[in-house]
Amino acid sequence: MEQDQLFERLWNGTAAMEEWTQAVSDGAVTSVSENIISVHTTYLCGSVTVIRTAAGLVCVDTAKPDTAAKTLAAIRRWDNSSIHTVIYTHGHVDHTSGIKVIDQEADTRGIPRPRVIAHRNVLRRLSRYEATHGFNSIVQGQQFNYPDYVYPIGQRRPDEIYDDTLSLAIGGERIELFHGRGETDDATFVWLPERRVLASGDFVIWMFPNVGNPRKVQRYAADWAAALRQMQALRPDVLIPGHGPVVFGRERAAQMLSDGAEVLECLVRQTLELMNKGSALDAILHAVSAPRELLAKPYLLPKYDDPEFVVRGIWHLYAGWFDGNPAHLKPAPSAELAGEIGALAGGAAVLADRAKALAEAGRTRLAAHLIELASTASPASADIQTVRAKVYAQCAAAETSLIGKAIFEVYRRDAKARSST
Ligand SMILES: [Zn+2]
Repeated sequence: MEQDQLFERLWNGTAAMEEWTQAVSDGAVTSVSENIISVHTTYLCGSVTVIRTAAGLVCVDTAKPDTAAKTLAAIRRWDNSSIHTVIYTHGHVDHTSGIKVIDQEADTRGIPRPRVIAHRNVLRRLSRYEATHGFNSIVQGQQFNYPDYVYPIGQRRPDEIYDDTLSLAIGGERIELFHGRGETDDATFVWLPERRVLASGDFVIWMFPNVGNPRKVQRYAADWAAALRQMQALRPDVLIPGHGPVVFGRERAAQMLSDGAEVLECLVRQTLELMNKGSALDAILHAVSAPRELLAKPYLLPKYDDPEFVVRGIWHLYAGWFDGNPAHLKPAPSAELAGEIGALAGGAAVLADRAKALAEAGRTRLAAHLIELASTASPASADIQTVRAKVYAQCAAAETSLIGKAIFEVYRRDAKARSST
């Protein structure tokens, strides 16, 4: 299958993913082979791959509440037969929550709802989302700047679960499921051996891997790399990423998988080397870096997650929460510390002035420390909040990642609401 022009520009880095989102927003169907399509509605929603079999359709993922109906309509323009099986590649909402729309359609038609298959840990994840519903709604809302966001819970649980691998034969099609850990601990990638088609789930997302997210549960950089190597060894002719357009051609698929693995392997290797020598987290964070040439690849740009967050995640996986600074083991309340430092400096306003100067000089990391001390030492000062809002605007501007920008933006808004202007 020929790649279209927009794809070529995405591949060579001259088009942004936003342009692709615009192009697919009505529900775009990519024909993968005669019996396989992939449906896209926006970069921000997981792709839905559909396999036509003699027993009915098999869907890999389901989209999310605001895109599921459009996705199903696109599927129906291609094939009107019943949906036999749904595979969740993992338990994130943009992959699972469209099941409601699929089930409703089955109910309307008076036919059985499809069977849902997923990795065992999807069950645990769906329960965890219920236990942490308030928190999860807050952090998701902050990350994507959706005010008053409520995380959708109550998705239908899988009917069948598996642990390591699962071989399915549905209506004459062989479908192999492999479990790996990466962004999540419940992930599946789907391999169609007779078609040499791979649906990677979110192991491939046309961006630097989202494996360091600061406000989410533990993620798995080394395992993610291993899963990508396993996929590379399958030598797919077509790679259907969890997000973004389908990649045709064995060479391109291999390159995308290999580059993704390499950037993660490199971060893990450097971090472990320093940990094994006894370095503290602070030293590691400022010493480890991802190869520039890999981060410059159009499909590995750190626009969502940040390699520095990944280093923290690797540390956390092997070392727990203690960062090697003894003052952080049993810290004083931050208000006491800020009060002491403010008094030593000659007042919280002095700290704020210095924070402002540092931020203006581009030293935003240091500026953030000082303005937070100033704000904590003198929380009622509207003038300090005015500076704080400005400092965090500069911090946000200095970030490349959506997550980094979003978190600074949360505190900028807080400061703005408490400020004198
Ligand atoms: Zn996703």
